[in-house]
Amino acid sequence: FRNLLNVRFSPHKKMNIFFGENAQGKTNILESIWLLSGKKSFRGAKDREMVNFKRDFFKVQSKFIKDEREQEISVFYDNEKKFLINGVETKNLGEVNAKFSAVVFSPSDISLVGDGPSVRREFLDNAILSIYPAYEKVLKNYQKAVAQRNNSLKDLRFHSEIEFVLDAFENSIANYGFLIIKYRNRYVDLLNEFAPTIFSEITRKKEILKLEYCTTVGATIDDFRTQLRESRESDMFTLKTSVGPHRDNLEVLINGVSARNYGSQGQKRTASISIKLSEGEVIEKVTSCRPIILLDDIMSELDPERQNYILNQIKNKQVFLTCCDPSNIVNLKKGKVFKVENGKTQRVKI
Ligand code: ATP
Ligand code: MG
Repeated sequence: FRNLLNVRFSPHKKMNIFFGENAQGKTNILESIWLLSGKKSFRGAKDREMVNFKRDFFKVQSKFIKDEREQEISVFYDNEKKFLINGVETKNLGEVNAKFSAVVFSPSDISLVGDGPSVRREFLDNAILSIYPAYEKVLKNYQKAVAQRNNSLKDLRFHSEIEFVLDAFENSIANYGFLIIKYRNRYVDLLNEFAPTIFSEITRKKEILKLEYCTTVGATIDDFRTQLRESRESDMFTLKTSVGPHRDNLEVLINGVSARNYGSQGQKRTASISIKLSEGEVIEKVTSCRPIILLDDIMSELDPERQNYILNQIKNKQVFLTCCDPSNIVNLKKGKVFKVENGKTQRVKI
């Protein structure tokens, strides 16, 4: 797998740290574990790019414990990706994810709090998808209806008689859109059961984190339909649908103000980490499957208190963490440490 050839390690139940210089294979290790969850590379890599330059396949295999028994999962790629769970092949990625789930946090994930609303909508949708597979259909139908409405807006300028076509598309938009908002609100409620506590534990200050789903849509499906009808005239010029969950935002508030607009780098980072760790808690609450936590290169920009939380206080989860500078991990109380060098791992005592 990438530059990792015949790497084999036996991780600690709780904390596992992979440290080493740049370009040695630390992130590759997390990426390989992540693939076992049935998802695509979190670095946006294509499957074939993860095949070692000198080979024509990759293979990642792991034993893991679920439902109190040891099980085995592997992913094999040679032009096509195949999963084997306890010796039985499956192409159903949902089934893979239900067996082996993970949450990953990499440095670019600070954008979760710092960037525009579309990043947070995407986060919400992906997080919901991984626990409620039925949501996929709702999203697709909604997106299709919006695309159809946008397309028809073009014609409306010259053919006012097609208003009834728009009625039909707007009806679908309102129905599916309303469902999306329901799913997202429910999910944000779930996140709020965990994120504020995790955030205050990490910061050990009286900073308060709150997540708020802000929608452009009125309180009922009928309101939504009316909004769509009333925006036809202006939407006709932009050829876009100006109202709906595709324009909504997940507000991240620290002490009541927008973290995106007012938060420091460290606050944004801590808020994003708290949200991701809460995603793990929500997976566990809803599916009773305990996800693995993958943390890529997050230590160097955190202050010692926050580092200590990451190293020693993440509860009830198996964590895999990478970092360059071993001085960031000297306060580790329980766990295993591996040095990564040129695609090889070696356990070391710290
Ligand atoms: P950093 O500290 O900079 O994040 P890292 O240890 O996380 O470094 P990785 O991203 O895990 O580094 O690994 C990068 C190395 O893997 C690079 O040297 C790269 O050339 C090598 N690599 C990436 N893809 C492949 C591949 N398909 N085949 C062989 N080597 C690869
Ligand atoms: Mg890396």
